[in-house]
Amino acid sequence: AIEFRDVVKRFGDNVVLDKLNFSVAKGDRVTLIGPSGSGKTTILRLLMTLEEANGGLILIDGDPYTHEYKGDRWVEIPEKRRRVVRNRVGMVFQQFNLFPNMSVLENIIEAPVHVLGLSKKDAVERAEQLLEQVGMSDKRDARCTQLSGGQQQRVAIARALAMDPEILLLDEVTSALDPEIVADVLGVLREIARTTDITMLLVTHEMQFAREVSNRVLMFDHGQIVEEADPETMFTNPSHERTQEFLKAVL
Ligand code: ATP
Repeated sequence: AIEFRDVVKRFGDNVVLDKLNFSVAKGDRVTLIGPSGSGKTTILRLLMTLEEANGGLILIDGDPYTHEYKGDRWVEIPEKRRRVVRNRVGMVFQQFNLFPNMSVLENIIEAPVHVLGLSKKDAVERAEQLLEQVGMSDKRDARCTQLSGGQQQRVAIARALAMDPEILLLDEVTSALDPEIVADVLGVLREIARTTDITMLLVTHEMQFAREVSNRVLMFDHGQIVEEADPETMFTNPSHERTQEFLKAVL
């Protein structure tokens, strides 16, 4: 489960999140929609500790993520403990972000071996299962730079799953792909949603995908949630004027 409590994030004078509150229950599949610049990616990056909040609290399964209240003041949680929580969260990026100098297999076993301390044998075995699952077994020993965008994204998904995350963050994972291979990647994600209970938080412009995979949609504007609904309601009968305008422009 994820909880944001009064989370504030600023870049200079630009207040991106202004005391944002929301929570995602375990096993939920939540899609964030909203105009460009509304803070969707920032939310995912805060959860990955790629950004630091300026205020408020982020909790994962009830554990504070970056700060805790001790005695009478907030103190930063030491990096070592923070990492334990962060390891429960995996992320797939728009631009794949694979390690370019490594093979497909090496990309997938890197973190399980070096972060989780799995034996190489176990990590390879698990990686092979995951490659099978994403339809990339035949590229096991290829260099990542030799793969197409869609193939790289499938490897990136396998890499995230190799850490056995409780929470999977998906940031516009099909935006950099050619239209004809978007369906492949969406198929892989749909299967993960169907066969696991991983909590998913996704930012996407693929409304059909959001509809199929998620059970809740949050509409953001200016760092605030303006509307929340199940996908059917959100996409066919949104109640907020801002959502209606936004969906009219993108659908
Ligand atoms: P999009 O749909 O275009 O990806 P978004 O809703 O994901 O938009 P964010 O990427 O979260 O929006 O950005 C929110 C705001 O924060 C934007 O105004 C952006 O310019 C600003 N921002 C994001 N990252 C940084 C950064 N590293 N430094 C300065 N400003 C940033």
